[in-house]
Amino acid sequence: MTDCLFCSIVSGAIPADVVLRTDEVVAFRDINPAAPVHVLVIPVEHHATAAELGAANPVAAAAVLAAAGEVAALEGIAESGYRMVFNSGAGAGQTVFHAHVHVMGGRDLTWPPG
Ligand code: 5GP
Ligand code: ZN
Repeated sequence: MTDCLFCSIVSGAIPADVVLRTDEVVAFRDINPAAPVHVLVIPVEHHATAAELGAANPVAAAAVLAAAGEVAALEGIAESGYRMVFNSGAGAGQTVFHAHVHVMGGRDLTWPPG
């Protein structure tokens, strides 16, 4: 999609601090981190939400989850614990409508989230 911020990161038109890239996913650091480790993992293919991604392309959805786990290991938070967050819809705080999972860790994470 031409007017999608994360499609522009996939294409390289907008730079990002990429930590992992495969044919199916790109993982990059959040520009406004809310935790010491805060990485976004997105599918290369554009889908607005995680649920739409899962319905349309389960293989890509699984690749996003697997990559999120890989990122946690690469960033050293797999053992200490981390959170995968999919905000879905504006009311839940979604601001970029290209499916993405936040991988967050490196500090104590309270439950339930706000
Ligand atoms: P959402 O609020 O949709 O769940 O998450 C969108 C995330 O994208 C936010 O945490 C925000 O900080 C991050 N973000 C927004 N614009 C950019 C950008 O241009 N580059 C990077 N790396 N992250 C961005
Ligand atoms: Zn997109």
